Amino acid sequence: MPVSPGAPAVVSTHDSQQVDPVAAAAALATLVVDLQARGLRVEVPLERRHGGAGPSDSGMLWVGGFAITVPTDNAAAADSPYVLRAEDDGFAIFEGARRLAAASAQRRPRFYDLSTADGVPYWQIGLLHLDSFASTVVQTCSYWGNDDQCKFCGIGVSLDAGRTIVKKTPQQLAEVAIAARELDGAVDATLTTGSSHGVDRGARYVARCGQAVREASGLPVEVQFEPPMTLDVIDEVADLGIDSVGIHVESFDPAVLARVAPAKARTGIEHYFAAWERAVDRFGAGQVSTYVILGMGEDPDLTVEGCRRAIDMGVFPFVVPFRPVVGSLMADVAPPDRAYTERIYRTVAGYLSARGMDTGVAKAGCARCQACSGLQSVQALLQISPRPAQLPRVV
Ligand code: SF4
Repeated sequence: MPVSPGAPAVVSTHDSQQVDPVAAAAALATLVVDLQARGLRVEVPLERRHGGAGPSDSGMLWVGGFAITVPTDNAAAADSPYVLRAEDDGFAIFEGARRLAAASAQRRPRFYDLSTADGVPYWQIGLLHLDSFASTVVQTCSYWGNDDQCKFCGIGVSLDAGRTIVKKTPQQLAEVAIAARELDGAVDATLTTGSSHGVDRGARYVARCGQAVREASGLPVEVQFEPPMTLDVIDEVADLGIDSVGIHVESFDPAVLARVAPAKARTGIEHYFAAWERAVDRFGAGQVSTYVILGMGEDPDLTVEGCRRAIDMGVFPFVVPFRPVVGSLMADVAPPDRAYTERIYRTVAGYLSARGMDTGVAKAGCARCQACSGLQSVQALLQISPRPAQLPRVV
């Protein structure tokens, strides 16, 4: 099939057995990264997530075998060249009339129809992000609504909209996690929290919630928190049997951090490294991760160097494109283009492979799921072709 200039190669056609596997993997990686940059218009019912932490304002689907979250509700998505359409047997991603890849969409989880004995709908306690049970256990943050608010964050948006409750108890989370596993096949739990003013910055409570979920459901659990002021708190979290932790620096560029996350900048990037070092000691290499957001004006060299240093010590840098969250302070900022994110993914994927940390290393959480990043598709390409041909250009 002739390919129009500026478009990715077709990933999956109905006669795809003729496609060279390296070329197909390269085209798929390009499509995944470009979908996350440009978003997706949808013509079919699709489970979506609005506001909050994590994959906000995004649809959740599988494209060419990769679980991905894709912006569907922001301004970029409205102008996306890509559209999700139904076809005879499932769904596919199209660009105009051209079919690019098979897709399947997350259906509404069954546990969303249940409520606790005291009448709280399960979907206000936790959500299913593809195959991960996810919850923000405390939906307030000491930085929200003041000068310290992280400008990319939407933690208060879903609370204001009545889509969640302010604080979930360990018992509620355990009850809903069991239902998510039994009714909808959740394979792990990802629990995050807003930051507190305490020395633990909220780590102790989210860890207690994680312990309850793990003991009740048997699911491996990741908990996410800010670096505690006292690093011994990390030992307390480990002692509760938690599997993985996320301690998110967001950017390795101090100037960007000072602009978009002033409180995190005051914590200082070196304190993140100190917290990660303690956490790797207790949880093991690959069980400690950090979000690294691309496209906020950061220096790419500082970003890559920070990721390399993190990987060297056993931390998984979960590199993701910036997504403007409706209602956040950066709602009108454009996401980065594919060429930029893909270049960094390829470098980081190379470091990860050299360190023996593939995308399957994490037991639980964002680095296990991988759906918010294009890193997984690029790393898969590197695995079948260590020196892949130039990825197809989109722009
Ligand atoms: S620390 Fe920043 S990103 Fe995390 S919940 Fe608070 S405002 Fe949001």
